[in-house]
Amino acid sequence: ADALQRATPAFPALEGRHPCFSTTSEGHAAAARLHLPVSPGCNIDCSFCKRDFNRSDQRPGVATRLLSPEDAEAVVERALELCPSLAVVGIAGPGDPLATDHALDTFARIRARWPRLTLCLSTNGLMLPSRIEEIAAVGIETLTVTVNAVDPEIQATITPKIAWQRRRLDGRAAAERLIGNQLEGIALAAALGLTIKVNTVLIPTVNEDHIGDVAAEVAAAGARMINIIPLIPQHRFANLPAPSLMRRYVARAEAERHLRVFHDCQRCRADACGVPGLSDYTAALYGDDLLAE
Ligand code: SF4
Ligand code: SF4
Repeated sequence: ADALQRATPAFPALEGRHPCFSTTSEGHAAAARLHLPVSPGCNIDCSFCKRDFNRSDQRPGVATRLLSPEDAEAVVERALELCPSLAVVGIAGPGDPLATDHALDTFARIRARWPRLTLCLSTNGLMLPSRIEEIAAVGIETLTVTVNAVDPEIQATITPKIAWQRRRLDGRAAAERLIGNQLEGIALAAALGLTIKVNTVLIPTVNEDHIGDVAAEVAAAGARMINIIPLIPQHRFANLPAPSLMRRYVARAEAERHLRVFHDCQRCRADACGVPGLSDYTAALYGDDLLAE
């Protein structure tokens, strides 16, 4: 079934134009993506999140350095020279791209200078309903929303507190608000024609039996694909194991009953550049001149 799926593009308009929405191997290899680490802050507190600045860790939440929107333009310029197949500019951290204005400001600059680049945004979804008009207006085509649970009891363990309208919400209240905004935001984005992928971190003992429910709800809201990301045990979840191969297989099979499953995620850095799993220009991109503030 997988071989058959892979022979037919799931998103014909994005095939060969976005490595993570291309579902054939030819399409995946044809297009590179650049992540711009312009988003400093976050508005929620996930138990597995450890943000850092360094050159070595290969995982989300890590970048060489934070970029201002002006710096980001210079990075795109250089990336287009280094990496001729660059087709997508995404913003996925190091914090949440909708918690501050840097990401949408950066996207507007890029759209004005390089209108042919596909714009891709990754968010925890808390601010999605209130910022969806801006997101559509700036021309973002592909959206990833991280949804780790649709049951508030489970979600409260994963993200015990959030900042909402200048107040702190804890526990169940935080979880209900986050899940509600994520599902509403996905529905609004789908209605505006964005192509939506959901990322779900697979967390042993916490949400591993809940993946089918997440997939069913986000599919009903309008998501088109799901990416099950194995937990990297760190921060408050440092003592949990990483999910076994069998657990990953079962979770993906559960999700596949409701949604197309993305199988090739590399858990990229917030400043990645190249085709995920095939090429990596990040070190070349951040030469010593770009490291100096
Ligand atoms: Fe970290 Fe992203 Fe969660 Fe914010 S939303 S705490 S950046 S994993
Ligand atoms: Fe694609 Fe996964 Fe990398 Fe995001 S983290 S760019 S979905 S491979």
